[in-house]
Amino acid sequence: MAKPTGSTCNIDCTYCFYLHKETLLHQDRHTGMSDEVLENFIRQYIDSQDGEQVVFSWQGGEPTLMGLAFFHKVVKFQQQYQKPGQRIENDLQTNGILINDQWAAFLKEHHFLVGLSIDGPRELHDRYRLTRSGKPTFDKVMEGVAALKRHQVPFNALVTINRTNARFPLEVYRFLTRELGATYIQFNPCVEPVDFKSTAPQFWQDDSIPVTGSRRAKPGDLDSIVTDWSVDPDDWGRFLIAVFEEWVNNDLGRVQVNLFETAVAQTMGMPAQICITSEFCGKGLAVEKNGDIYSCDHYVYPEYQLGNIETTKLAHMAFSERQKAFGFGKKETLPAYCKACPYLKLCWGECPKNRIVRAPDGELGLNYLCPGIKAFFDYAQPMVVGIATILQNEQGR
Ligand code: SF4
Ligand code: SF4
Repeated sequence: MAKPTGSTCNIDCTYCFYLHKETLLHQDRHTGMSDEVLENFIRQYIDSQDGEQVVFSWQGGEPTLMGLAFFHKVVKFQQQYQKPGQRIENDLQTNGILINDQWAAFLKEHHFLVGLSIDGPRELHDRYRLTRSGKPTFDKVMEGVAALKRHQVPFNALVTINRTNARFPLEVYRFLTRELGATYIQFNPCVEPVDFKSTAPQFWQDDSIPVTGSRRAKPGDLDSIVTDWSVDPDDWGRFLIAVFEEWVNNDLGRVQVNLFETAVAQTMGMPAQICITSEFCGKGLAVEKNGDIYSCDHYVYPEYQLGNIETTKLAHMAFSERQKAFGFGKKETLPAYCKACPYLKLCWGECPKNRIVRAPDGELGLNYLCPGIKAFFDYAQPMVVGIATILQNEQGR
């Protein structure tokens, strides 16, 4: 996951977990990834891959701020270092604001898959996704969407579920599927500890960690451990239930929703489709604009820096003992409450960065979203099993 602009962005979303990295990592907002770092990264990344498919993910900040010339270089270096039999693919995660016909034509020509950040219809999107001067961004994003559609560029919707839009599940889902025309949707719950700008995950003060379900383990309380815009765990459960019901009734097989697809796949005994429901972490390193490498996009803190590609081989960092410990830690640090959970193999304690509360018995390391995740599976698991059984029977024919 490469971040060629670092944390630099052209808007200022209230809930952004990355903007503050400029201060934390002492970044210069006026410079992006240099040609030397870019070439080195692309060469090493391709070199370290044995499989046929090599996927680059370009994220930010806002990667389109690098300009089209930078992405022409991306494609040029990829073609230069591509090995026989390899297929190179690119994902671009963008807020859509700079996407115009030129961009869309480039993305189409080079088969980029676009992930578009959008939080629902206008009033919900504009709640937190604002410009630096506090102006709404919905219309600009929709202009970008129109350009993508004119050039038939495939795009996914990346939707941050926050304290506000979580309360409007059907408005969000119907907008995405019926107005935006998205057929692949990623819902990402917004969970931000109040001290996320300075304190790395797992470095929290143990004595201030509340028990799941308590007043401080929810947003809105004066002493809450999360920001005001973080999703309420119970709202997260209600959101998923409402969307799941709508999806099963109307869109099964037509629309893919990341959390539902992976639940069905995992029930069928297949690997998780997304990292947050996997048994282990560690496969998605983050590459900052100066070539610094971190364990994960959500762990870009000095405590989790593995090195720099200018001085250490990317493959060495990816398979280092430190990174292995990071990856296996997801399972090894599960509290007993999770180990005894009927949904363990569908959830695996969700993302470790969200394990900021205590289990009911007081043990540390439970996921903040747990009440919502449990409520969702209490409702949806029988149907997930049903869908998995139908698919397995079809495959067996
Ligand atoms: S820490 Fe979270 S985002 Fe990173 S790989 Fe693990 S589950 Fe995924
Ligand atoms: S639903 Fe809750 S208890 Fe069960 S595995 Fe997930 S986080 Fe742990």
